[in-house]
Amino acid sequence: MSEQNRRDFLRHSGQAACAIAIGGVGFELGRRACAQDAWVIAPNQCINIRLGVTGAVNVCDACATSCVLPLSAVRAVNDHSACGRCCICPAYYDVLSPTGSDGLPTKKLCPRDAITRTPIGEIDPYDPLNNFYEYTIDEEKCNGCGRCVMECKDPAGLGSIRLEVRNDLCLRCNRCSIAEACPEDAYCRVGPEPRPTTQLDGGHG
Ligand code: SF4
Ligand code: SF4
Ligand code: SF4
Repeated sequence: MSEQNRRDFLRHSGQAACAIAIGGVGFELGRRACAQDAWVIAPNQCINIRLGVTGAVNVCDACATSCVLPLSAVRAVNDHSACGRCCICPAYYDVLSPTGSDGLPTKKLCPRDAITRTPIGEIDPYDPLNNFYEYTIDEEKCNGCGRCVMECKDPAGLGSIRLEVRNDLCLRCNRCSIAEACPEDAYCRVGPEPRPTTQLDGGHG
């Protein structure tokens, strides 16, 4: 591969190389030098996050299924400051499931039961719909499947739940398998400089 082709390949595949010469220096040194080098999700490109795409049939689960880690490095995160604390949260409940005697849907949406809700203030026992809740995502359970993210956006939700790459978990594979699987080129590498493949990267990508 010529030098020019190689450069093009690196640019287009998202592979990156640090400007410093890692050479025989250990992986940790390279990793520290590239502290800002990370994979991120572009929210306006991700199918699950971006506005205008709705419905369970459109959910993209590639972030959950393509990571080399047993439990993906991607998680759903709820920004509590933007959350409406809705009683019937479309990310918490499967709003298409039958309604129970309390007026609430009988099934939850998350297939991994990773979302919990805690009442805010005093519960109104006479009107279950007149209560507000804080929704929290259990990162030990969430695999970033994106279903809740798809539901928590206009017109049903406020968009407080989004998908994020957890950089404390991500191995920063040179060739991220999620980026390769992403149908929208929404998985991007950011950082000050590209970095070359290391021994450890070779095992993951
Ligand atoms: S992304 Fe999937 S696994 Fe995680 S909380 Fe949402 S629905 Fe559950
Ligand atoms: S770089 Fe590797 S560990 Fe990180 S999200 Fe991609 S596949 Fe998973
Ligand atoms: S693979 Fe791409 S489109 Fe699919 S959920 Fe991940 S970032 Fe979004």
